[in-house]
Amino acid sequence: MSDFNPQSMVCYNHPKRETLLRCNQCERPICTACAVHTPTGYRCKECVRGQQKKFDTALWWDYPLAILTAGVLAFVSTFLARIVGFFMLIIAPVAGMIIAEAVRRILKKRRSKKLPIITAGSAFLGAMLPTLSTLILVVLFSGQGQVTNLLPGLLSMIWPVIFALLVSSSVYFRLKGIRV
Ligand SMILES: [Zn+2]
Ligand SMILES: [Zn+2]
Repeated sequence: MSDFNPQSMVCYNHPKRETLLRCNQCERPICTACAVHTPTGYRCKECVRGQQKKFDTALWWDYPLAILTAGVLAFVSTFLARIVGFFMLIIAPVAGMIIAEAVRRILKKRRSKKLPIITAGSAFLGAMLPTLSTLILVVLFSGQGQVTNLLPGLLSMIWPVIFALLVSSSVYFRLKGIRV
């Protein structure tokens, strides 16, 4: 057992550095500079990288696919939200869940680190698109100079913004695998 004589251990990357640490996956001795602190303990950089590769299964076309799916579905869900009014607060997390599931299915469960945030961002933009066009109309027709004329238009945008935020955060957490 090497534990009885820790002095004999040297880092596998740095033969001149003595160490007491071992990677808890491949069990090679590692110095503090080579150790990465993970939720399951210290690991060497190679093992951490290997793990990330397994996690990153998304192909390049998965990103445009995810953006398109999330954007279009979020756009459609905004019109539904307008019909139900206040109940959009209940609909938003459900819409987010449906969007996340749709993306997951279309991508055949391939995933990557960046995918949740990219998909959520696209869902936010998709949900905001009808509102952004409203904003442009408000700005165009509110007359020149009178800032107060803008207020009612801007206030009417609060709910769609909340809706878009709820939908996109629901998409994000669902794809990240966090249950709320
Ligand atoms: Zn290792
Ligand atoms: Zn080292």
